[in-house]
Amino acid sequence: MYFQRNFKNWTSGNSDIDKFIQNNQLSVHKDNEISHVLEWISYDRLYNIKYIAKDEFGEIYRANWIDGNIKSYVSVTYQNCVTYQNWERYNQNMFVVLKSLNNLKNITTEIENEVYKPYGITQDPETKNYIMVLNYNKCKKCNSICNAIHFQHKFIDWTSGNNDIDKFIQDTQLSVHNYYEISHALEWIPYDRLYDIKYIAKDEFGKIYQANWIDGEIEYWDYKTQNWIRYNQNMFVVLKRLNNLKNITTEIKSEV
Ligand SMILES: [Zn+2]
Ligand SMILES: [Zn+2]
Repeated sequence: MYFQRNFKNWTSGNSDIDKFIQNNQLSVHKDNEISHVLEWISYDRLYNIKYIAKDEFGEIYRANWIDGNIKSYVSVTYQNCVTYQNWERYNQNMFVVLKSLNNLKNITTEIENEVYKPYGITQDPETKNYIMVLNYNKCKKCNSICNAIHFQHKFIDWTSGNNDIDKFIQDTQLSVHNYYEISHALEWIPYDRLYDIKYIAKDEFGKIYQANWIDGEIEYWDYKTQNWIRYNQNMFVVLKRLNNLKNITTEIKSEV
């Protein structure tokens, strides 16, 4: 009934979508059903919208959601008067997946067939397209959003320009789940994050350089900024040329 009270405060501009969301919200009675709730999400509550890929149904985007999803209803009463009532939310600024709704007459099927968990529907004010706002998949091993998933969110933010190297780095990132494993993840480091590059020596495989790395190593994921917290900023690093791109694993593992 908390949802019903709020029906007058939002509209998608489309009566099928309004009806669909309202029916969903009216089916939520107990606190443990709240995770199934869908909302109308205003497009301006999403930011950092970036194209990921195209599948047979349309384009897929990644975005951050300012509010995060609903956790529970909070009602505070003081001397028999309700002083505060609102939804408590969590996962503020969380990463979400955006996918266009293709058939407004068949929203139920489209949302139920979705592999990602839906949070709601929004509308691009320019194209007028209705868009599903979906959760990224949880990690199957951890059953949560672990470090591997945080790395995965950022796959579209970088590329080495070489598929083998991208794949190799991504695989190391997808294999780190908990805090203790994080140092095993490799990164793509843009050359301009290195400075004071100096030649030190030559070995049988090529020249060796020393440099300083502006950013330093990854320590843990920060939910507030949705980014990595790092340490050892400006640390000294050694640079060595990769000789065989088809055999990166062996070359990196045999590195002293
Ligand atoms: Zn009820
Ligand atoms: Zn995991």
